[in-house]
Amino acid sequence: MKWTTREIKYLEEHAGDGAAAIADVLGRSVRSVESQARRFGLSLRRSWQCPKCGMRVHTPLSPKTGWCVACTRELRNERIAEEVRELQEEVRREERVNRERQRLYSAKHRAKKKLKNMRK
Ligand SMILES: [Zn+2]
Repeated sequence: MKWTTREIKYLEEHAGDGAAAIADVLGRSVRSVESQARRFGLSLRRSWQCPKCGMRVHTPLSPKTGWCVACTRELRNERIAEEVRELQEEVRREERVNRERQRLYSAKHRAKKKLKNMRK
């Protein structure tokens, strides 16, 4: 059976879905899909479009993010960077508190010493 223009258009747009999936939708055999793809120079290699960056990739999208590997890694890096910022803020606060305590202890020590000398 001859392929219709609509079917060929579908094949062009969905080549990345793979032969089996296209055959299923069009009600054609996998062999028929493969030979049409060859005829039009289309690659049936499985690919996915990342909704984040819009790139076509040949590795499945992450089930967690629904994004490509690169976008998923980028997100992970952002989260780590956020954690680092929070930890650094905590360190700075701890340092501030420690410096203040040190300063107060010194002041206390000096005041006591002074008092002791005055009462001699
Ligand atoms: Zn992406």
